[in-house]
Amino acid sequence: MSQQTGTQPHQHYIAGEWTDGSGSETFASENPATGETLAEFQRGTADDVDAALEAAEEAFEEWRGLSYIDRAEYLWDIYHELRERHEELGEIVSQECGKEISEGKADVTEAWHMVEWAAGNARHPHGDVVPSEVANKDAYMRRKPRGVIGCVTPWNFPVAIPFWHMAIALVEGNTVVWKPAEQTPWCGQIIAEMFEDSGIPEGVFNMIQGYGDAGAAITDDERVDTVLFTGSAEVGQEIASKVGGEPGKLAACEMGGKNGIIVTEEADLEIAVHSAIMSSFKTTGQRCVSSERLIVHEDLYDEFKERYVEIAEDIAVGDPLEESTFMGPAIEAEHVEKIEKHNELARKEGAEVLVDRFELEDDEIPDGHEDGHWVGPFVYEIEYDTDLRCLKEECFGPHVALLEYSGDIEDAVEIHNDTPYGLAGAIVSEDYRQINYFRDRAEIGLAYANLPCIGAEVQLPFGGVKKSGNGYPSAREAIEAVTERTAWTMNN
Ligand code: NAD
Repeated sequence: MSQQTGTQPHQHYIAGEWTDGSGSETFASENPATGETLAEFQRGTADDVDAALEAAEEAFEEWRGLSYIDRAEYLWDIYHELRERHEELGEIVSQECGKEISEGKADVTEAWHMVEWAAGNARHPHGDVVPSEVANKDAYMRRKPRGVIGCVTPWNFPVAIPFWHMAIALVEGNTVVWKPAEQTPWCGQIIAEMFEDSGIPEGVFNMIQGYGDAGAAITDDERVDTVLFTGSAEVGQEIASKVGGEPGKLAACEMGGKNGIIVTEEADLEIAVHSAIMSSFKTTGQRCVSSERLIVHEDLYDEFKERYVEIAEDIAVGDPLEESTFMGPAIEAEHVEKIEKHNELARKEGAEVLVDRFELEDDEIPDGHEDGHWVGPFVYEIEYDTDLRCLKEECFGPHVALLEYSGDIEDAVEIHNDTPYGLAGAIVSEDYRQINYFRDRAEIGLAYANLPCIGAEVQLPFGGVKKSGNGYPSAREAIEAVTERTAWTMNN
């Protein structure tokens, strides 16, 4: 982190300069596995956001005038840096957000995949040539940048998600004002340094560190043409309803899920157990696509339960930097409390608890990590009922319900769809009729078959329906969110 000198907190990056901004408060980035402070950061205010938006507006005209290829050059620099610093950055992600080391590195890999996709698009700008209805006319649809894009991102993919937002927006000719999550400002700092090192013109990229108030100052401002938000449904819905009422402004919000995996009577049990374990407990259940509901056919239920519970009882929770670790800590103390409330709710609603490692034993916590935010798997079985809140509310932790169903795939999908969310889900089955039924009727944006319910490919959309998203998942659709269409007709 090159900008911090002595004990000075890290700064915001506005108009090509590092600045303390106008606020008097600072905040700390914490290692969730040890509770240690990693670094201090300036806490952004509405005035800082105002300065960043002014810079972004000013830079827009010149930036949009560059060719796609010229704009992409800056991103290719960043692409190479992400690759060269893969190991180092992966460790930083692990330290700052508690992800186990291979997942920390995977976050960086996903970031360069997105930068590669977006910068590669500079050689393949999007538009449509449409024949005119009349003779002697040419017609086509052309895309133009919208202007200033406000990006607000969550902590759990602190390198990949910011690039999902910003790489496409920048290559399409927009300028950006970005706020990283308050839990992962160190990753934010490093990304801002990469933009500085790339030599991108001043004001094109701006970063404000801080909390939700700084996020709201970005999303609420009329100078922001598109808001790109990824985070919780509570915040995303608030943003979408505020911004949705403003003519000419657009909010693309990607939010959480209450994801489920269906294991039918035609499932390969090995695949089913592997898929469920990976999806429930990787990233300590703190992925938007983590499965919190396992919907298992009665024919396989007992065997599935036995194997799944055995593994969950044994999963290695520990130091994220150790390769033998499967699950790191929760992100922060408040989140541990939130997970505990979800576990309590399930108990109150009649859960039969099968695995309760919420509070780890002392000897499970690595030496020197006593102040980390530790939680282990919590697995319960419960009889499905549509009124159960524990089956509808996202916990965002290693909290999993086992539900036994009887009947056919139609019955399983009905249970699967019975949540307000619609992000991700999986089916494990060797019967194509069942798989196809799930693909067509599951109310989700991301559907997996015979795979863990996790994973993304950059060329595919990544986003949900219902309460999980409002229709601009990343990749191609994201281009729509950051551009305007012009239908062009010209007499020959
Ligand atoms: P969060 O909603 O608490 O915070 C996300 C960002 O919004 C942070 O930068 C925060 O400071 C900011 N923010 C908070 N209040 C705001 C406000 N009123 N106005 C504007 N900005 C505000 O989410 P989180 O805890 O960082 O992330 C976890 C959530 O994100 C989970 O629900 C998870 O499922 C979801 N998520 C979704 C996806 C996806 O692609 N669909 C990906 C990752 C995470």
